[in-house]
Order: sequence, then structure tokens, then C-alpha cells
Amino acid sequence: MRAFVRGRIPHRRVPEGAAILVDNGGRIAAIEEESSLDARGWTPLERIDLGGGLVLPAFQDAHTHLCQTGRFLARPDLGRARSLCEALETARRHRIEKTEGAIFLEGYDESMWPEGRGPHRGELDAIEPSRPLIARRVCGHIAAANREALARIPMGTAGVDRTTGRLEEEVVFRLEEDFFPPSLEENREAILRAQALAFSLGIAAVHELDAPPVAEAYRSLDCEGKLRLRVFFYARAHPEEVAKLRGREASGNFRVAGAKVFLDGSIGGRTAAVREPYPAGGCGELLLDVRRIRELLRSARAVRVPIAFHAIGDRAVGALLDACAEDEDALGGLPHRIEHAEMLGDAEIERIRVLGFRLSMQPNFPRRWGGAGGMYEDRLGARRARSLNRFGSAVRAGIPIAFGSDCMPLDPFYGIEGAAGHPSSEERIDREEALRLYTSAAESLVPGGGDGGALEPGRRADFNVYSEEAARDGILDRERLLLSVVGGEIAHARER
Ligand SMILES: [Zn+2]
Repeated sequence: MRAFVRGRIPHRRVPEGAAILVDNGGRIAAIEEESSLDARGWTPLERIDLGGGLVLPAFQDAHTHLCQTGRFLARPDLGRARSLCEALETARRHRIEKTEGAIFLEGYDESMWPEGRGPHRGELDAIEPSRPLIARRVCGHIAAANREALARIPMGTAGVDRTTGRLEEEVVFRLEEDFFPPSLEENREAILRAQALAFSLGIAAVHELDAPPVAEAYRSLDCEGKLRLRVFFYARAHPEEVAKLRGREASGNFRVAGAKVFLDGSIGGRTAAVREPYPAGGCGELLLDVRRIRELLRSARAVRVPIAFHAIGDRAVGALLDACAEDEDALGGLPHRIEHAEMLGDAEIERIRVLGFRLSMQPNFPRRWGGAGGMYEDRLGARRARSLNRFGSAVRAGIPIAFGSDCMPLDPFYGIEGAAGHPSSEERIDREEALRLYTSAAESLVPGGGDGGALEPGRRADFNVYSEEAARDGILDRERLLLSVVGGEIAHARER
């Protein structure tokens, strides 16, 4: 046993200096006055002094693409380049460093460059004639490819201009999965890189959404004891396929939690399925109709696999709710969830509550895209932009909702401030409630949750220690995070 002593825990009657006793399994055994440890005859082998720091539960991010984030971390960030010329120079250097496989560069933004345009095929061919080379734009919807990369994308694939090398939309999202699959080792390294980043941000658990091969990478790390982050995995596959993935976990930190299904696209790409057309035209794309959603729900019920439905537009959410009509047991008691649900009317909120869907929402979205002149306003107009991301309404309706980042960016501090500063005062969530949605509420979204997410005996000892300033004004940020403890062990300590 070890004890973390002299921690300040809000709402607990341990005025100065609580001791958190952690058992050898990494769980909280007790939270006591330090003096009563001796009285009870508990003699921890080790005492770690928290120096009066504020102790709060570690974050649980309810929507991540961590493996992908880890892969991006190893790639040059073209967002730092001040010109196209400089970006091409970065590509040239990186090509020499990366001796194997396809070469990816991320994040270019030509709007800041004197040339006023992104790279062309010919320029990329000149840098790399024999291996695939791809530069992706900061938005994630556009990329430029060299000849070798284009050769691996089948003829007839939509959104590919073989002359300029420009790639758009769907093909860009699916580059890795469909055409340039990373190796198991690449994914493993990416996960370890992203795990370190997560710990530095006080995140001890994630709900990861990705393709089945990524599950293999997590599983193998877990088997070797290298996965210290707790991962609930939603695999992009049919529920019956997901059922086969399940049960082969190493009973450690990795668990297959459910299936991920896309019902529509994004507001940024004008592909979210909306009822009222976008001012620029079109109503987005509904990827599955009501009949097919109903079939999926039936399969899910048969194999007991909950589904995380990506649904952003009101038409996509509506289709999901319609698929549940006329069947009282449509959800089959499973913790099905809607990811994003950015565009909800009052009627949808009520139907979500009655049916028992969970909501996984992103507080960073309104901060990133809301407000005057933001992306939401550009795509939908000011009136509709104001009514997005209805966190406050969902909480008041009593719907189980949790917060996640979608890795845009992976940063709960950014998200909490996003919720607290929502452009619509009705939908604002105060910091304390936002913290709950990023911790214990996230825990309760996963099947069989209840293991972590709170500072209570029996739960996992996953907690963060913050500096005194945070205790004073309630604002949490990365600078104030002194220590991240995961499973009772120090996972990250701020450099002093
Ligand atoms: Zn996502």
C-alpha cells in the first residue's frame, strides 16, 4: 500500500490534508485524515506528499481518436511552415528520416502562405518519386498526393484529381484505413506516444473510436502491460463483428465496449444530414436509412453490443429516433449512444430522454467553431449556429451525457472552458458540472462502467493534483496540473 498525503479534496470533511490510501491493485482503499491511518493500523510502505494541492478525479475523455493522434505526433506539422516553399523543404527533410512506408505530412494552411496555394502533385513527385507522399490540409478534408500515392487509390474513387494530385473529403478521411494502413508496430508506437500526451493532460481513461486493426494494437500493448491508460474501444464494424472482437481482452486496461456507426458527416464539410438546407445548398448526406438502422439495432440487441452512432445533423438524429419508433424495446437495455448530436431540437431532446440514449458531446466544438464569424455561422447562418451543442438543455432534461474531445484538440481544459463559455447562455455548463461530465459521467456511459471517474474507496486511484491557484478560482489548466496519478502510480509530473 502507498498513501498520498496532504491533499485537498473538495466537498470532503478532511479539512487540512486528506490521505488517499491506495492498495496494491491500484484502487483507492480509503480516504482519511492522515493521523487516522496510524490509528487504524494502516502502515503504507510509501508516503507521497501532495503539499496541500487540490485533488480531483482524473479525466475520462468520452470520444477520442488517440491512436490517430499519436500517428500525427510523429509527422511533421506543416502548420508551422511560413510558405509553400518552406513546407516542401520540411517534406524533403522528413522523407530522408522516414525510411519506410508511405510518408504523411499534416496540417498545411495555404491561407497563411505568400504563394496562396497548397502543394501540387508535380512538386511532391520531385521530392519523392518512388514512395507514396501525402500532405494533408489543416482542416482534414483536403490533401495533396504524389504519383505513387495516387497509384494506390483505385480509379473511379470520388474526390481524386489525378492531374493536380488534389484529394477531397471522403477519400481524405479514409486514406490510412483504406489505402495506406499503418503497420501494427506503427499503431503501437502511436498509442504509446499519445498515452504520454494523455497523462500530461490528466486523462486516465478514453473512449476510443477506430477500426478493428487498431484494437489489435491496443490489445497487444495491454498484454505486455504497457497500456496504463484505460481504453474503452468502439470498433468501426458491424455489431456481430464487434461481438467476435470482444472477450479476447487481457483483462487489463483494454476493453471492447461497442460498435461505431456513421449516420452522417460534418457541418464543416456540409455533409451532416440536416432538415433545412445549408445556405450554400444541399441537406448533407444520410448514410443509413431508417430501415438499415433498425436492422443494426436488432443485430446489436441479439449480440448485446451497444452502438455509438455518429449523428451530427437533426435529420441524422431524427432517422435514428424514427428507427426506434413502434418498438418499446428498440434499445434492448443497451447503453447506445449518440456521438456529437450537435443539432438537436426540443422534440429530439425529449425523444432521446424517453428512449434512453446516452449523449457523447464535445464542449470544445462551440469554442472552436461557435461565435460571430465562426465556422458554424459560415455554414449555417447566425440563427442556426446559435442553437447548436445544447449541453445545458440535455443536462436539464436528465439525459445521461458525457464530454469528450474528438481530439480537436485532445485537451479537457480547453473543453471545460468551452462549456463554461458557450455562446448561448442557456447551454452553458459551469466548470464544476463540466468536470463531472468529463469524469464520472463519462464512466457511466460505458457498459459495466463504475470502476473509475470518482474519488471513492473501491474505485481506481486515477486522480490529478493541481496547484493552489486552481483551488482558489476553480479554473483548471495544464500549467496548474502538478501531478497525474493513474492506477495509484505517478503517470506524469509537471517539470518545475
Ligand atoms: Zn470522432
